Formats: sequence, C-alpha cells, structure tokens
Amino acid sequence: MQPEESVLSTAGDIAARGKARRKGDLPEKTCATCGRPFAWRRKWATVWDEVRHCSDRCRRSRNGVAR
Ligand SMILES: [Zn+2]
Repeated sequence: MQPEESVLSTAGDIAARGKARRKGDLPEKTCATCGRPFAWRRKWATVWDEVRHCSDRCRRSRNGVAR
C-alpha cells in the first residue's frame, strides 16, 4: 500500500528523467532565470547538458543579476 502522493511523485520523476519519453517528444529543462520550462532545440544539440536558460536574453539577464 502506498499513498497517492507517492504514485504521483514516481510518475513525475520518470517524466523528468525522460525515460517515458515518446518518439518525437523533445527533452525539456527549466530556465534558471525565468523558471519556465523550455524544449530542446537543434542549436543546442552539442551543448544541451550546459544549457540552463531558455534564451540568450535570460542568460544575459542572469549574468547581470548574478551579484
Ligand atoms: Zn528564461
């Protein structure tokens, strides 16, 4: 017996890891600046692991607010 909360948590965890990803779906991340989810883009194919912002604007914004 497991509480409903545990079931929901497991489902979300799987989705976050991308293991339940269907063909055609793109991986997503959450922008470190605006907190919004953004989808994989082809231009990030080689740097996806390093991408943390949804756009250049957010990346610059974070650099300016870092301190
Ligand atoms: Zn953003």
